[in-house]
Amino acid sequence: MEFKPTNFFRQLAGAQPRPVIIAGPCSAESEEQVMQTAMALREQQVDVFRAGIWKPRSRPNSFEGIGLQGLQWLGRVKRELGMRVSTEVATARHVEEALKQEIDILWIGARTTVNPFAVQEVADALRGANVPVLVKNPVNPDLALWIGALERVYNAGITDMAAIHRGFSSYEKSKYRNVPLWQIPIELKSRFKQLPLIVDPSHIAGNRELLLPVAQKALDLGYDGIMIETHPDPANALSDPEQQVTPAGLQQILSQLQVRKTTYDDQELINLAEKLRLQIDEADQQILRALARRMELVEQIGHYKKQNNVQVLQISRWKEIFRSRPDWAKELGMNPDFVAELYRLIHVESIRMQTRIMNDKSEL
Ligand code: PEP
Ligand code: MN
Repeated sequence: MEFKPTNFFRQLAGAQPRPVIIAGPCSAESEEQVMQTAMALREQQVDVFRAGIWKPRSRPNSFEGIGLQGLQWLGRVKRELGMRVSTEVATARHVEEALKQEIDILWIGARTTVNPFAVQEVADALRGANVPVLVKNPVNPDLALWIGALERVYNAGITDMAAIHRGFSSYEKSKYRNVPLWQIPIELKSRFKQLPLIVDPSHIAGNRELLLPVAQKALDLGYDGIMIETHPDPANALSDPEQQVTPAGLQQILSQLQVRKTTYDDQELINLAEKLRLQIDEADQQILRALARRMELVEQIGHYKKQNNVQVLQISRWKEIFRSRPDWAKELGMNPDFVAELYRLIHVESIRMQTRIMNDKSEL
């Protein structure tokens, strides 16, 4: 697949590349709410107005979107305010209706990306259309499913595409509504360098407090755009009330975001970075030498346990290691959780090595 940067990215980026801003309510609720939000957003740097018309909700009897009449309101935003408008499509009928109303940009939601039948139906309906399509990551952390959805749309003749990172659902409690798992979109970007990447901090965070740090992290990773849910009265929104911000709240976030240069533009800075990299290389060699030494000692103790017919796993010893190492890390100014994670890996490898020694018949 050879993705082109979408036309709207190319047009908007211009000479001075900057992130594309997509904002608007989770759901279109009333004509007044749509117009009021869009008018406020037009005054800011917002490039594309978003609003969900058909809402995939987890439980029935929740607000499932205003439906067709909402498309008319988006049509008004486009004609009267001159903004680009976008909405989510999940079925062939959604695509047909959205194209009839000349919606500028369509997106495929996370609950649709998980289902190849649904994505294929949307892709078939898009055939021959000249419309950019944004594909959200699937709800579950499955890169192949995300790529598959992009391919189905691309194979239908849509080359103007971008991917939206909205985080991944997890059963475990976390500070995020959908954990970001940044390595997955980074892997996508490394496979498809031309594919623009948009972050959706609203669905990652699930609350207003984390919107700024999530958006900033995405920009620091080189993302090309941001989609943020914006509502005139978030607390009373019919969907996602905890995560939406007012247009003024959005303005605050945008004003605090730092857009950094893509790379160093000065030879002196390049030299300094190069010097630091050489020192990092040296530190990594020291880490690996220390790790090799540790594993040698593990091997020795493995033989010792075997000679004395003592089992490999000594729970009290490992408990002590998991207690002490994170503490030592803290004293050295490091994140103890990171070091605990590192020792979990080391533990797995130590057990593997010692079990191999224990079962090696040639030694008996
Ligand atoms: C949305 O953007 O309102 C939406 C439903 O998002 P997602 O598909 O990411 O859950
Ligand atoms: Mn939403």
